[in-house]
Amino acid sequence: MSGNSVKILLIEDNLAEAILLQEFLKVAEQKQFSLIHVKRLQEALKEIDRDYFDLVLLDLGLPDSQGLESLQPLMELAPSLPIVVLTNTNDDKLAIEAVRRGAQDYLFKEHIKPEILVRSLCYAIERKQAQEKLRQENEALETEIDRQTVEMLKAKEVDLLRSEFLAMLSHDFRNPMNAILLSSGLLLKSENILSKEKKLAHFQLIRSAIKRMDRMLEEFILIGRANSGKLECQLAPLDLILFCRSLVEEFKWSNDESNINITFTCSGELRGVLCDRDLLRHILANLLANAIKYSPEGATIYFGASEQEKSVSFRVRDRGIGIPFEDQKQLFEPFYRASNVDTIAGSGLGLAIVKKCVELHSGEISVESQVGVGTTFTVALPLSKATFEEGYL
Ligand code: ADP
Repeated sequence: MSGNSVKILLIEDNLAEAILLQEFLKVAEQKQFSLIHVKRLQEALKEIDRDYFDLVLLDLGLPDSQGLESLQPLMELAPSLPIVVLTNTNDDKLAIEAVRRGAQDYLFKEHIKPEILVRSLCYAIERKQAQEKLRQENEALETEIDRQTVEMLKAKEVDLLRSEFLAMLSHDFRNPMNAILLSSGLLLKSENILSKEKKLAHFQLIRSAIKRMDRMLEEFILIGRANSGKLECQLAPLDLILFCRSLVEEFKWSNDESNINITFTCSGELRGVLCDRDLLRHILANLLANAIKYSPEGATIYFGASEQEKSVSFRVRDRGIGIPFEDQKQLFEPFYRASNVDTIAGSGLGLAIVKKCVELHSGEISVESQVGVGTTFTVALPLSKATFEEGYL
């Protein structure tokens, strides 16, 4: 409605009635009405699609649509367009049902007079505008409620993480700390009576306890960063064969006391692949560390990387304790540990971090495992490659 002029789409197959309505509207004084007249519903839909109208005057008996069926396509196409229904006097029930279904008003053709018609049209437009405003306010309110609910859930999640961390601190952190206290105390007090081998064993105990604490701390810092959206994925071209090989070497070198055997195989070019070096390191190092931790000493871990047409995938397979089927779904939740870990130390954070890092790469992670047989984790990342000029890191 621009100023005082109202543009109406009249859908009426009876030409005489259409002309009469047009005459009625001509004599209106408070507003200027312009009327576009069509005879069929399909023509009306086309008109609404290409032009703006303030209101639709709809006859319920059309050649291509009968009764209330006409309402739905009109309301679907233009939900905020008010509709006033025209009926014959004997269509009383139908008219009321039309209003129930979304029409703004109904007029019995035989009773129409110029002032009744104009008043009904003006009210219909006002009412629809008020409804529309209410609907928009409602929508804005719902969006705000959704936003606040998400924030509340996030805060709850952070709270939960915090309390789980405190529980972890008091429980899982104490074990390695006690081991350090005990071994260092013995080394200090009984230095003279301890054999060289015993001393070495205590130093090794202290070292692995510190490593465990260090890993837990790093995991907690990482999950905190991931949850607050501070973990970012910065892609750079990588030579994945070199990357995986040096990771394996590093593992062997830094875990020399646990007699590790990692077999690395690869297929495909695997060069110039765009990856985030740090995130990929978190993913693979965590999976390898778990494979070692949950396997008997001296066991072989099979680590593979391959390039397919649209993805690169990494696979870490072990013949360790396996994961009970009922635990497999929840493994990637923070602090979740399977029921068969027994006394094997851990925080339950590693796989949650791995999952976040995989998601930041828009990749996927899956697990196949059988208790007593072993476990395979597979990570698939979408393949994108650097151009030759960008070089390989
Ligand atoms: P954790 O610090 O406990 O190892 P993770 O988040 O890395 O935490 O792993 C979650 C749980 O998944 C582990 O506690 C363990 O129950 C199970 N798990 C992970 N990797 C393996 C594996 N290779 N073999 C058997 N169980 C595994």
